[in-house]
Amino acid sequence: HSLHEKATVGSVLDAVAHGRLQPAIPDYIGFADYLAGGGYRVLGECLDGTRDTESVIASLEDSSIRGLGGAGFPTGRKWRAVRAEQGPRLMAINGDEGEPGTFKDRFHLERDPHRFLEGTLIGAWAIEATDIYIYLRDEYPQCREILLREIPKIEAAGFSPHTRIHLRRGAGAYICGEESAMLESIEGKRGLPRHKPPFPSVVGLFGRPTLINNVETVFWVREILEKGSAWFASHGANGRRGLRTYSVSGRVRDPGVKLAPAGTTLRDLVDTHCGGMADGHRLAAYLPGGPSGGILPASMADIPLDFGTLEPYGSFIGSAAVIVLSDKDDIREVTLNLLKFFEDESCGQCTPCRVGTEKAVQLISQPAWDEDLLAELGRVMGDASICGLGQAAMNPIKQVMTHFRDAFTPLRSAGG
Ligand code: SF4
Repeated sequence: HSLHEKATVGSVLDAVAHGRLQPAIPDYIGFADYLAGGGYRVLGECLDGTRDTESVIASLEDSSIRGLGGAGFPTGRKWRAVRAEQGPRLMAINGDEGEPGTFKDRFHLERDPHRFLEGTLIGAWAIEATDIYIYLRDEYPQCREILLREIPKIEAAGFSPHTRIHLRRGAGAYICGEESAMLESIEGKRGLPRHKPPFPSVVGLFGRPTLINNVETVFWVREILEKGSAWFASHGANGRRGLRTYSVSGRVRDPGVKLAPAGTTLRDLVDTHCGGMADGHRLAAYLPGGPSGGILPASMADIPLDFGTLEPYGSFIGSAAVIVLSDKDDIREVTLNLLKFFEDESCGQCTPCRVGTEKAVQLISQPAWDEDLLAELGRVMGDASICGLGQAAMNPIKQVMTHFRDAFTPLRSAGG
């Protein structure tokens, strides 16, 4: 039986590799249906002068929308900053979605790709981009197929009169989701993060001022402009503003993509949006923002999840990849798993991160943890790494040493 199974799996993989078997394309809102639902009307109003760039950018600023790839930079302010730079200007869409636990961009692209494309084209119009580069992770062949089908339709319809659209494939490197590494990758080089400044809004793709937005960020643009900035800002919980697409996975009854207000707490996400914890599991910990945001204990399940709210706890929401852990999970093993991930995905460009992640894996693989050495390593990596990977890689260890003291054995000092 198992031999037969292996043969079957092998032949399927072989068929995929040779293009005989295409992945199933999910049902999505196609061009005609999107148009029939009022799609591309806002873009049309931009192109025919009914809307002006100032009012569009002001609406985004008032809506409070921020970069939903994880950095949370105010979107309207970014559009304004790039527009102020000397042309020609470019636009790049970050669809790499490599943060483990994040699958919201895929969710939107597979269902309503034209809403994403319309927002992208409005952004390109606002900054007068000559070219748009969509950088899509290669693990999303369905999304790629959808975009390959749909982009020619909007070009044929004249919806991108002044802008060429290029679709680029990622190649599976986590670091290429870091915006400057993504630019390098689009340029055909190794995906090594750049030193900043200069920021991409000033010196970006091919040396040109470049507007970089995440897929979900532009996905919201049409609706914000149609319904008004107050509509988006009116959502929000616990004093926060806006909507978020949380990718929730782990020990919950009903995991998946959850649309919920910014500022929703983990407890609300689990109880209200995910049907509670999975049977037999008790909430023990959670990762609010994939591996980079580290691990927080269940006692912190009532913190509003948003940009800026988790930083006092040495964490951040990032792309809202919420991973829920239970009393059945081994926190030490989880931590080791996260650090091995960072070790694997470090681009190796700078020593603190390349050597530091490897050293951290070695240290926490020991029967007892040398906390002083780990703390020192964390300081060096945080201070001296070029990009966010190395700067955030020690977050999980720091949090475990603070909040999960039962999860490891501390190394006794010589006198202890
Ligand atoms: Fe590369 Fe790590 Fe340095 Fe970032 S911090 S540039 S991933 S080596």
